[in-house]
Formats: sequence, structure tokens, C-alpha cells
Amino acid sequence: MKTLNDIFEHTLQDVYYAENAILKALPKVIEEAGNAGLKEALKEHLSETKTQVATLKKVFKSIGAEAKGVKCDAIDGLIKECEGVMDEAKGAAARNAGIIGCCQAIEHYEIARYGTLREWAKALGHEDAHQMLGSILDQEKAADHKLTGLAVESVNKAA
Ligand code: ZN
Ligand code: FE
Ligand code: FE
Ligand code: FE
Repeated sequence: MKTLNDIFEHTLQDVYYAENAILKALPKVIEEAGNAGLKEALKEHLSETKTQVATLKKVFKSIGAEAKGVKCDAIDGLIKECEGVMDEAKGAAARNAGIIGCCQAIEHYEIARYGTLREWAKALGHEDAHQMLGSILDQEKAADHKLTGLAVESVNKAA
């Protein structure tokens, strides 16, 4: 990994792995969420995540690279933490608040990655990739805001 392009491609592979890991993990979180609004928000984000994986494939194509993932220890750890909270808070009133906190940690990881990737794409002259990564970044930010709203409006009080 020597050039900005190398780091860009590596990090693209990192988020590609992360999105696929999230896709695998979310159904269980949706099942375990004990609040209708939270369930709905997570379902919506699951379907957005599917489109994000498809968009990332287009990003790879636009830069002439093969779509592939590289293990992201960060997302594996964040997902593991989420599963731990769901187990340990089973039956507790604070469980939904815990789930939201874990999901927001995941959103913030994605926001960090896509914010960086979007600007690297621009610096490298990959204008289409810049646009597409920016659109995913906006979805991640909206998902994070929605979770904050759910926490503040209902879930934290119930906890
Ligand atoms: Zn990496
Ligand atoms: Fe995502
Ligand atoms: Fe990573
Ligand atoms: Fe997300």
C-alpha cells in the first residue's frame, strides 16, 4: 500500500466487507428489537444496506477494480459488542436503548469511512465514485439521526 489509490481501494474493500457483515447481522437485531419504531427503522436500514452493497459494486466498477472485501476487524468487533448487549440485556427495559447505542456505533464507523472515502475519490479524480460514496454517506447520517430521534423521543424514557 503505497499510493493514495492503494489506500482508497483497500478502504473500499474494508467498507464492502463491513456492509456485507451488517447485512448478515441486522436481521437478528431487528428480531430482538422490542420497540415498533426501532424495528421499523432497522428494517428500512436493512433495505438501504442492500442498495449500498449494489452501489459499492458500481463504485468498484467505475474505478476499474474488482468488487471484493477485506476483513474489517472494527465492524466485526462492533457487531460482536451488539450481540453481547442483546444477550446480556435480555428482558431488561434498557435493552432497546442498548441496541440503539450499538447501532449508532456502527453508523458512526460507516460515517467515518464514507466521509474519508468520498474525499479520497474526489482527490483521485473519481467523480462518479465521489458522488456515489456521498449518497451512501447521506443515508448513513440519516439513519444515525433517526436512531437519535427514537432514543430521545421514546426509547430512553422507557428504559
Ligand atoms: Zn482495513
Ligand atoms: Fe451502510
Ligand atoms: Fe475497517
Ligand atoms: Fe448504516
